[in-house]
Amino acid sequence: MQEKLYAAVDLGGTKIYAVLAENSGRILSSIRYDTLVDEGPEAILGQIAVSVRELLSQAGARTNRLSAVGVCLAGFFDWQRRLLIHSPNIPGLDQIRVEERLSRKLFVPVLAENDANAAAIGEARRGAASGSQDVLYITVSTGIGAGLVLGGQIYRGSRGFAGEVGHMVVKSGGILCGCGRYGCLETVASGTAIARAANEALQNGTATLLRELAREQGGRVNAATVFSAARAGDKLAQEIVSEAVYYLGIALVNLVNMLNPEVVVIGGGVSAAGDELFVPLEKAIRNYAILPAAASVTLKQATLGVEAGVKGMLCLLTEAESIR
Ligand SMILES: [Zn+2]
Repeated sequence: MQEKLYAAVDLGGTKIYAVLAENSGRILSSIRYDTLVDEGPEAILGQIAVSVRELLSQAGARTNRLSAVGVCLAGFFDWQRRLLIHSPNIPGLDQIRVEERLSRKLFVPVLAENDANAAAIGEARRGAASGSQDVLYITVSTGIGAGLVLGGQIYRGSRGFAGEVGHMVVKSGGILCGCGRYGCLETVASGTAIARAANEALQNGTATLLRELAREQGGRVNAATVFSAARAGDKLAQEIVSEAVYYLGIALVNLVNMLNPEVVVIGGGVSAAGDELFVPLEKAIRNYAILPAAASVTLKQATLGVEAGVKGMLCLLTEAESIR
């Protein structure tokens, strides 16, 4: 008998990334589409269904070998009611029963999960924290997301909204966040926040290497440019990086004190900064977290990159009792 197949789909605000894999996790085919972000839920769900059929055809596999499909959702997924409440980056994806609607299109069970939770499972089972039971995964890119794996399982909270680390309030009197509140971690430490601080300083006429780099990039800089200018010794860039790292450090110290994780994995575009980010964060944990928790935690860079979500979802699919 041929092995069962699983499809995992990462539905993001810009791209849909989907893979088809065997029970063992071996990936047979993969596909990437631009999300039809402005065309509403029916078009997006249709796109996911098409991508799954395309994966099967690419792999030369018959439809009846498909056992289940998993979807990683960038948004608030009510885990108890199986309802996607809201997706900040995809307008119109509100109050949607993704599992039920996709299952009707694909004729197999569908499992949905918040994307950061799926990525956390990916890193905890197959990536930087393989073998660890208590893992805090934080992704720092345009926004800041997180997933908690506690005792080897996703910790979702009562309804599925646990792990909103990006909206931990860390700066009193801080600026307005996309969530409608003020001073969230995301407003001071995300890639967007780092770029915004640099671009504001450029407007003020501060002398900096960033001005030259901005000219080369059409007048604006991104977070990666700020990190490379900081590495090259630019004072302004170093100040911006250290402000962002300071607030990330506060969040990490509090999370380490509260959760006593074995591993903290940091992923997302900003984590590519490497030592510039990891060395000061390690120092913050060592200096400010309670001693026994600080001594037993390891900070690691994520290893699965954009595959973290789908790889985690494949683990969840093969582990789900409702699907086996
Ligand atoms: Zn917020």
